Amino acid sequence: MPLLKLEDTYLHKGKRKALVAELRQKGIRDEKVLHAINTLPRHFFFDSALVSHAYEDKAFPIGEGQTISQPYTVAFQTELLEIKPGDKVLEIGTGSGYQATILHLLGAEVYTIEYQQKLFEGTRKFLSRMGINDMKLFYGDGSQGLPNYAPYDKILVTAGAPVVPDSLIQQLKTGGILVIPVGDRKQQKMLKITKKRNGTYSTEEFDYFAFVPLLGKDGWR
Ligand code: SAM
Repeated sequence: MPLLKLEDTYLHKGKRKALVAELRQKGIRDEKVLHAINTLPRHFFFDSALVSHAYEDKAFPIGEGQTISQPYTVAFQTELLEIKPGDKVLEIGTGSGYQATILHLLGAEVYTIEYQQKLFEGTRKFLSRMGINDMKLFYGDGSQGLPNYAPYDKILVTAGAPVVPDSLIQQLKTGGILVIPVGDRKQQKMLKITKKRNGTYSTEEFDYFAFVPLLGKDGWR
């Protein structure tokens, strides 16, 4: 990936290394995920006023009332997805494009959809400036998935959903994995749903997280 004209100094690299150590200490074990986080300059995805906070393990505003997810959350969700090179992955909630770029670095074929037009336009321009032109970005309501390009090996929802939308399970391949935080507006339980043969599926439950709400038809209206 041809990364960029923006500056990635030794100081940034050092802070990133410390962040990765923190994530490891918090329980992230997948070395490929940790390597991707160590590789990708998170500060590139930040507003200049907030750049000095880019390597804190926290979510930060990216405009339009939305956030770039906390690094621990990005690592946790990505680990659950068990990404293999060539996996076709749908991300719902492009936001800053950081999570999508992590998936891209892991070798996934990334489709990502964003509900807020301003964010969509801004992130599309930014990724193009970064030289990342091989992710497919869409503007629209991802609570319905992206049926025209289905099925997917993996689907990741990066906003808090009130329910698991049926359409997302339908758009998974057999053996595919959906990672989605489900709950109320304050907190959501992380779910990993694996699609089995005959359209049945199994659900594993993990910790609680606090995401911005999934909007749209199968989200919070
Ligand atoms: N993955 C993002 C990143 O790396 O910066 C962070 C995502 S932020 C926590 C959640 C995003 O989901 C917001 O950008 C929000 O606008 C978007 N969103 C909410 N509802 C959506 C929907 N129905 N379809 C697509 N995106 C949605």
